Amino acid sequence: MDCAEVERRLWEYLDGALSPKEAKAVRAHVARCGGCGPACRCCRSFLILVARALRGQPVAPEILRGRLRVLISRES
Ligand SMILES: [Zn+2]
Repeated sequence: MDCAEVERRLWEYLDGALSPKEAKAVRAHVARCGGCGPACRCCRSFLILVARALRGQPVAPEILRGRLRVLISRES
């Protein structure tokens, strides 16, 4: 699995929507890739913040804004 493939699958991976075999391939790539590792950790923190916000727990707005900026800059 290469970076482009991981990027396409990352959200599904974090969602637990991939098959065990695919999830294992993503995990293996993320563990050794200097680009996808930080991206994956960033997306995961973002999901945790969103989940927390949905449950009505306080979310540090500046952290959320920072994460969003990173995610948006990755899109372009
Ligand atoms: Zn990669």
